[in-house]
Amino acid sequence: MVDQSIRVEESESRKSKPNSNELVFGRYFTDHMFVMDYTEGIGWHNASIIPYQDLSISPAAMIFHYGQSVFEGLKAFRTQNGDVQLFRPEKNVQRLNHSNARLVIPPIDEQFGLEAIRQLVELDKDWVPDAEGTSLYIRPFIISNEPYLGVSPSSQYKFIIIMSPVGSYYKEGINPVKIAVENKYVRAVKGGTGEAKTGGNYASSLKAQEMVEKEGYSQVLWLDGVERKYIEEVGSMNVFFKINGEVITPALNGSILPGITRDSVIQLLKHWDVPVTERRVSMEELYQAHQDGTLEEAFGSGTAAVISPIGELYWEDHHLTINEGKTGELSKKIYDTITGIQYGNIEDPFNWVVKVEKKTKVNY
Ligand SMILES: *Cc1c(COP(=O)(O)O)cnc(C)c1O
Repeated sequence: MVDQSIRVEESESRKSKPNSNELVFGRYFTDHMFVMDYTEGIGWHNASIIPYQDLSISPAAMIFHYGQSVFEGLKAFRTQNGDVQLFRPEKNVQRLNHSNARLVIPPIDEQFGLEAIRQLVELDKDWVPDAEGTSLYIRPFIISNEPYLGVSPSSQYKFIIIMSPVGSYYKEGINPVKIAVENKYVRAVKGGTGEAKTGGNYASSLKAQEMVEKEGYSQVLWLDGVERKYIEEVGSMNVFFKINGEVITPALNGSILPGITRDSVIQLLKHWDVPVTERRVSMEELYQAHQDGTLEEAFGSGTAAVISPIGELYWEDHHLTINEGKTGELSKKIYDTITGIQYGNIEDPFNWVVKVEKKTKVNY
C-alpha cells in the first residue's frame, strides 16, 4: 500500500435521521462514506472518508458490463449503555478477500479494511439506532471501474463502504416463513461463483424468487446445480435442519456461501453440546424425516434476520409442515443467544463482539 492513512473530510451539514421505529431496510444512508482507489502499478491508495455522495463514473466502467464486483454485509449494534459494537467484523473482511480472489480483484489489507469500517462507524455513530431490534447495516463493496469494453480483469477498482440504519427484521416477533423448493432454476454450481459474495449471484436468483412469491412463498430453497437433489441454501441464507435431535447443515462444497451466522450457529451448538453435522443432505432425506416425524425444526441463517424459522416446505406437490408451523425451541434459543450477544445483553464467551471506540493513535 502506498498511502495508508485515511483522509477525513467531514460533511458540513448533517442529514435528519429517520425515526427509529419507522426504519426499513436499506433506504436511508448516513452522512459519510469511505472510498479508496486501486490502480494497477500503484496499488490501493487515496483512502478517504467523505460526505455521502453520488459517484462520478464512466459509462464504460467495466462494472456495468461484466459485473466484476464483490460485497459484504455486517451490522453495528447499540447496547443498553449506549456503546456501539460490531459482530465478528474481521470475518467479513476476510471473506471480502476470498470473494476478491475468485473475482480476480486485488486483495485489500485486512487490518486496514477493519480500521476503515471502525473509523466510519465512529464518525457516524449517532446513526446507530437504539430502538429494539434496530441496527446500522454496513455495506463494504468493490467495483471495477476501468473504462474499457474488453473482457479482462479491470486495472482500476473502487472500494467503498456505505451505511444504512435498519429496522427490526421481526416487528411482530420471530415468525416462521413458507419456502418453496426450487426445481427449475439454480443459484450456483461447483466451480462457479456461489462461494463468493458477488452481485451476479443475486441477479441470477431473482427469477426464481419472483416465481415463488407469486405463489405465496417468501423464499426458495436452492438445490444443487448438478443433480438437483441436495440442499444448498434458502434464499440468501444458509440453512439448518434438526432431525431426531441432531442439527444438520449442508457442508461447504464450493457453491454455498460460507455465512458468518452459519459459523456462529455451529460454534454455539458445539458449545451447548448439541450434535451438529456439516454434510450433504438431500430433499428426499428431508421428506423421509418429515414422514417419520423426526424433522423437528428448520431455519435459515444470515446477518439480516439472524435466524429465520421455516414453517412449511413445498416440494413436488408435498406441503411439509414443520413443528406445526411454529418457531422451534432450539431455533428460538439460538436467535435469542446471538442477538443477546450482539446487543451486549448477555455474555460473549467467543469474543465475537468488537467495541467501536475512539483510538487516540492509529499506526499503519
Ligand atoms: C451473505 C449470504 C449469506 C449469509 O451470510 P452471513 O455472513 O451469515 O450474513 C448466505 N448466503 C448467501 C448467498 C449470501 O450472500
